[in-house]
Amino acid sequence: MLGVSALKAHPQKPTEFVTQANYQGHIFSQKRTPADKLPSKGSSQIIAIEQQLTSCYVALQATPTSPVLGAEREAELMASLHQLTAARPNWSITAYSEELGFYRQEDNRRQRVRNEQERKQAYQRQERERSRRDSLERLALRRTQLIDSTRQAILAQVRAQVDSVAQVQAAAHQATQALALSTTAHSTATSMPHTVAVKKPVSRKVVVKTKRSAGPMVYYCDSGNTVKYHATSGCRGLSRCGASIVPISQSAAQQSMEPCKWCY
Ligand SMILES: [Zn+2]
Repeated sequence: MLGVSALKAHPQKPTEFVTQANYQGHIFSQKRTPADKLPSKGSSQIIAIEQQLTSCYVALQATPTSPVLGAEREAELMASLHQLTAARPNWSITAYSEELGFYRQEDNRRQRVRNEQERKQAYQRQERERSRRDSLERLALRRTQLIDSTRQAILAQVRAQVDSVAQVQAAAHQATQALALSTTAHSTATSMPHTVAVKKPVSRKVVVKTKRSAGPMVYYCDSGNTVKYHATSGCRGLSRCGASIVPISQSAAQQSMEPCKWCY
């Protein structure tokens, strides 16, 4: 009896029922006790621990990212180990502790990977948001620049038109003055008594009229003693003109000349 009792109290070899598992190059111990080798005392605790560790191993291989152990399962395993040690102190738990340690380490590694991924994703989200904001700002800036340049282009066009209108007005004014002078000179040259008498009012009237509207243009022979004006420069009445044929507004011509009978 003494011998049997001493044998029972002898500690179990730590390598008994232990095999080596390999997960992605990491080697760790796995102790799984065959059903026919279970001791009568503490067998339920041994079965509980080994089943819990097996479900951890399934979780380890299921996905490369999800938690293997988790706080709840780890607490359960620690309690089971404690109960086994109390029920059967000579049963070696070295391999169980090693396997549990590997799962804990793998959980920590996976958590670090998840944290790193979350950090990267947060950074990418920030980058996307920043670049979206930047492009909106650039768009707003371009729109403002476009509005400014359009406004400037319109202003430049308006200024050019105003300038051109001013030039046309100046030219018209000069032409009108030249016309008035020429009409006056012509009237004087014709030396018709009534023309001389009405010279001043006539020239004033011409200026006023041509400023408003040039009216249709007519032609006369600038020989100095012309009394007729013509509708076209090609009129047969002008064919014998020895001087230049000069255009003049009809209203101005009417002041000192009569219409040609061929033309009118
Ligand atoms: Zn004529």
